Amino acid sequence: MYRPILRQSAKQLSCAARPAAVRSYAAHATPQPFNWQDPLGSQSLLTEEEIAISETAEAYCQERMLPRVLQAYRDEHYDKKILEEMGELGLLGSTIKGYDCAGVSNVASGLITKAVERVDSGYRSGMSVQSSLVMGGIDEFGTQEQKDKFLPKMAKGKLLGAFGLTEPNHGSDPGSMETTAKPHPTKKGYLSLSGAKTWITNSPIADVLLVWAKYHETGKIRGFLVERSECPPGTLETPAIKNKNGLRASLTGMIQLDECPVPEANMFPDVEGLRGPFTCLNSARFGIAWGTIGALEDCISRTRTYALERKQFKGNPIAKYQLVQKKLADATTDAAFGTLAAIQVGRLKDKGEAAPEMISMIKRQNCDRALFNARVLQEVFGGNAVSDEYGIGRHVANLFVTQTYEGQSDIHSLILGRAITGLQAFV
Ligand SMILES: Cc1cc2nc3c(=O)[nH]c(=O)nc-3n(C[C@H](O)[C@H](O)[C@H](O)COP(=O)(O)OP(=O)(O)OC[C@H]3O[C@@H](n4cnc5c(N)ncnc54)[C@H](O)[C@@H]3O)c2cc1C
Repeated sequence: MYRPILRQSAKQLSCAARPAAVRSYAAHATPQPFNWQDPLGSQSLLTEEEIAISETAEAYCQERMLPRVLQAYRDEHYDKKILEEMGELGLLGSTIKGYDCAGVSNVASGLITKAVERVDSGYRSGMSVQSSLVMGGIDEFGTQEQKDKFLPKMAKGKLLGAFGLTEPNHGSDPGSMETTAKPHPTKKGYLSLSGAKTWITNSPIADVLLVWAKYHETGKIRGFLVERSECPPGTLETPAIKNKNGLRASLTGMIQLDECPVPEANMFPDVEGLRGPFTCLNSARFGIAWGTIGALEDCISRTRTYALERKQFKGNPIAKYQLVQKKLADATTDAAFGTLAAIQVGRLKDKGEAAPEMISMIKRQNCDRALFNARVLQEVFGGNAVSDEYGIGRHVANLFVTQTYEGQSDIHSLILGRAITGLQAFV
């Protein structure tokens, strides 16, 4: 049903009948109709290929993912086949060039992320960890051998990744991490990793875990690719963290390393300090800025449908009441602004001109506005908001997590404040 290669399917879609004027800049004398689903006409900023990729991703997500999410969320179950399906479509590591990856623009990858999170932030988290945090890290910092070994299988979703930075005692301040990498006492050519990571997406099922640890020689943070299949019993445990009240359709766990032997060849060769993890995080945060708008747009669409159908007071649909309309107007405005900002940063990222603070700005803003608006829109459902059948409560719970992970919103305020004033607050 779906084309196996993202670019191929995109090309075919873009050849299909599409109005020739899609990118026309002609001035219209008469006012254009308002499209509440794309209020500021962001589609006109996209290339034919990006539109086609977005359509491919949206079709897969709506037809294949959406029917599974309610039960998965109830059962706190993550179907790892989803990553294989995404791999077949070329959705994983989509901006990476070579290694069986699609090599598309950052905007196209953002549109994929938006399509996935329109269904559920948990599915997007699983994809982001695979694509941005682990594949992106290997592509940026890995040796040629590491790239050849891991990237093609990860692109197909045959090998699953996890990214271990956060520790029980060090979340917002990862520079203080306690996990260490020392020479292995008995195995020549191996390092011994010890420490604990927590709140790690995909860790219970990951085959390759990108663990950040302090290297014995320098005391600086380095990246290590820990292969589960190579770890002797008792040296690597990845227990799941159960009973979450958000992101229940994704798997989260710990990484416990007890003198775990890791070949020196599995260390990233050059990158030191926080530059390594922060580069990976920047890419993932860019995806979150897109994804949260997808979740917000789904909240808007669900709320609009509900408000048009639900009648109160003399048979009027509640959508007729201005207080309800204001909630929709606020949310739709924030979604439209968030999309435009994400496109702009994506274009700059493609040209290598995006400052990390730009990504902090859109990650923070889009997460905060998506969470705020989703909570307000939830009110429109009245008592039905409490039923998971209506989907909005799931988005609200998920969006709290997106605002918290990969730099909690206040931490991104500090990053922006520092950039604006030149004064460091993290002391
Ligand atoms: C479902 C889920 C999945 C996750 N997946 C991953 C993953 O795959 N890999 C990974 O490495 N991590 C992951 N995380 C961890 C996540 O990135 C951290 O939870 C996040 O960085 C915040 O750290 P913390 O929980 O320790 O909070 P803390 O650092 O303890 O912060 C608590 C509060 O204090 C505030 N605060 C802290 N310091 C300051 C300061 N200097 N000034 C002002 N306010 C401050 C914060 O803004 C926050 O509001 C995940 C988390 C969740 C919930």
